[in-house]
Order: sequence, then C-alpha cells, then structure tokens
Amino acid sequence: LKAEWDKLKDAPSVTKDGKHFELVANIGTPKDLEGVRNNGGEGIGLYRTEFLYMDSPDFPTEEAQFEAYKAVLEGMSGKPVVVRTMDIGGDKELPYLPLPEEMNPFLGYRAIRVCLDQDAMFRTQLRALLRSSVYGSLRIMFPMIATLQEFREAKAMLEEEKAKLVKEGVKVADDIQVGIMIEIPAAAVLADQFAKEVDFFSVGTNDLIQYTMAADRMNERVSYLYQPYNPSILRLLKHVIDSAHKEGKWAGMCGEMAGDQIAVPLLVGLGLDEFSMSATSILKTRSLMKRLDSEKMAELSQKALYECTTADEVVALVKEYTK
Ligand code: PEP
Ligand code: MG
Repeated sequence: LKAEWDKLKDAPSVTKDGKHFELVANIGTPKDLEGVRNNGGEGIGLYRTEFLYMDSPDFPTEEAQFEAYKAVLEGMSGKPVVVRTMDIGGDKELPYLPLPEEMNPFLGYRAIRVCLDQDAMFRTQLRALLRSSVYGSLRIMFPMIATLQEFREAKAMLEEEKAKLVKEGVKVADDIQVGIMIEIPAAAVLADQFAKEVDFFSVGTNDLIQYTMAADRMNERVSYLYQPYNPSILRLLKHVIDSAHKEGKWAGMCGEMAGDQIAVPLLVGLGLDEFSMSATSILKTRSLMKRLDSEKMAELSQKALYECTTADEVVALVKEYTK
C-alpha cells in the first residue's frame, strides 16, 4: 500500500474516468509545509492563521505575520495557498485578548465577528497578507461568515488596505481571490447570492455540521448527532457547490469530511472542486479517487440525497457503490 501511495506523490488527482480534483492540505504553521510536499499536496486549502496568534505572547506584528505568509507562499512555489484570517474565540483563546465569558462561545464573539469589531488588529493581518501576495498564489478566506454584510465589510477593509499600500508604493498582486468559509447554515442557504460576490467557497464541515444539527462538536453525549452523511448536510452541500458553479466560481471543503473515505465518493459525485485535508490523508484519498467513476458517483449522490432518509442508509449505499 505504502509503495502504491508513494507512486501517487507526483500524480494528478483524477478519477478512473479522468475527472480532475484538487487535493490540498490544511496547515497551522509554515513548519507543516514539509509534510505537504512529502505527501503530494497540490496546494494549501486552509492555513489556520490563529496559531500565529496563539503561539505569540502578544499580537503578532505585521512584520512577523508577513514573514510567515511569505514563507508559506514561497514554500509552495506558486501553487495556490488559501489563508484564513484569524478565527479566534469559540474554543480558541488568546491570553492578551480577553474575551467576555459567554454562555455559548461557539455561538458568540468569534472569528470574523471579532475582526470586524476590532478592526485595527484585522487590518494589520490584511496588510501583512497583501504584502505577501507577490510571493506566490494567495487566496484570502474569511471564517464564520453569516451574512453578506459581513463579507462586504471585510472585503471593503481589504480593498482599503490595498489602496493604502499601493499609494505607499508597495507591490500587491492583483489576482488575489477572496472567498469565504461556508460553516454557518445561513450562508449555505444563501450560497446562490454569496456566489455572485465571492471568488470561492470552502465548506467548513466541522462547524457546519454542528450548527446544522445543533449538536456541539465537543459534546460526547450528542455526538451521535454529528452526522456528516445525513441527507440534510448532503443537500446543503449540493446547494453550495451548484451555486458556486452557476456563477463560474469554485467550491472546496476544508473540514474533516473532505478526507473522509465514505464522504469522498459522495463529494466526487456532487462535483466538489477542491478537497483540503491533513497532509497525511492526501495519498490515501488520491488512491481512492483513482478507483471511482465520476458518473457513477453522481448517481450515488443523487440517490443518497433524495432516496436515503438516514445517515446509516447513506453509508450502506456508498459501500454498495464502491465495492
Ligand atoms: C471547519 O469548521 O470545518 C473548519 C475547517 O474550521 P475549524 O475546524 O478551524 O473551525
Ligand atoms: Mg470552523
């Protein structure tokens, strides 16, 4: 098996019938790049920048952030790199940014909500990102977007910082894609409207599933409700992917589900464009994809979405189709 995977390191990610998908990696620091290269990652689908903040005794400076983003972009030699702006709050705390105690931190002041509110901190990150953009293929992604207002506000701040930098004579790439994570059901439902304004979607299933099922992703007692294969989740995903494609945009996924061996056949069938996962799952997934027929997987996903009534039925159907 190991030998087979090794051979796939430099191979494209294609199905049996030749349909290409992008298999990229989730990283937390520039140190993770070696693992990505060793496992044949075609890019970075999620760089969780909050670790930069969590590993620092105080807010990381613009310079420190610039160096980290530049290192990742250069390290990927022109391959696409999706950098997610800071997603703090929820279960992730910063000692130097005291947040009020909340009844439901996962439903509270976190991620883009903090960034839009404390915009000096956010603008520092945006400037660092913009400055790094000339060192590779940068894509910027905002987390926990619930409304179009939030996206427009974040995008406007990005444009403002870009204009300031250009005026200062700093070079900024002019082909930076700007997208959002789909991890709040409200955004998934309005994906058709979001798709007109964003450059891409990346579905954060870790959060999308917990919010759709109203089941805390950390709570063992309700973990039976954490159901990636529930037809409700699959239908949401279809709407997100189809909405992106209707506007000529791409849709990826960076939650755990993207590297899940039961989910991958369904996601191939739904036409997801980009799969982002831990580097160690890439070769296994590339190997699985090679054995799938995309037309047959489209038939599978159609049945899973509209004929199956439970997650268990979906799992049984996937197994039957991939035997
Ligand atoms: C997600 O919610 O699926 C995701 C990728 O973000 P995180 O796990 O960092 O919340
Ligand atoms: Mg998330």
